[in-house]
Amino acid sequence: MNLKELRDEVYEANVRLVEDKLVVLTWGNASGIDRDKGIFLIKPSGVPYAKLRPEHLVAVDLEAKVVEGTMNPSSDTPTHVELYKAWPEIGGVVHTHSTYATSFAQACLPIPCQGTTHADFCPGDVPCVRALTKDEVEEGYEKNTGLAIIEDFAKRPPMECPGAILSHHGPFTWGKNALKAAENAVILENVALMALLTRQINPAIGPIPAHILNKHYMRKHGPDAYYGQK
Ligand SMILES: [Zn+2]
Repeated sequence: MNLKELRDEVYEANVRLVEDKLVVLTWGNASGIDRDKGIFLIKPSGVPYAKLRPEHLVAVDLEAKVVEGTMNPSSDTPTHVELYKAWPEIGGVVHTHSTYATSFAQACLPIPCQGTTHADFCPGDVPCVRALTKDEVEEGYEKNTGLAIIEDFAKRPPMECPGAILSHHGPFTWGKNALKAAENAVILENVALMALLTRQINPAIGPIPAHILNKHYMRKHGPDAYYGQK
């Protein structure tokens, strides 16, 4: 994929966040990386989505330096940098303040796995990453946001659960490219809504039984996955 194709894809991922009602105003950003060049494209800071054009996307390297573009990149750029540096297998990152996933984040609770919709996405709860300390916020807020997420995933591959919510903040998702990261943001928001409604309807319900969870996760993501088309 050349940089022009990447630009179109990252633009489309940003637009999808609005079309799928995950983003209002400028509360969100999507990026996608060209691993050969070590450069990613990200939404510019504070630009309304209605005015966003593919050529506005800012090219940034893994030192967080702008290498192409006239606008300032998203203020969350250092978070994207840390995730790309730590996880070579990811190609896209998305951050939103979507209502239901953010509500779990504000409550500082993981999104519980209540059914197969969620189990198809992630084998268990969507983790709620710890709150940043005062020092972490003051000395490099966005960079330390990325490092806190990476710390939470120290013992598991990032693609096993391609998203997390950050305490007091909101969801971050990732994927093999920007569009997949955006799709994962849509899934995360919907499983958060379903988990909330499930617990309202029946506050006594436990998590999905392990044998059903494992069946669903493995048929889609396991070594012998058979969901979908070859
Ligand atoms: Zn945010």
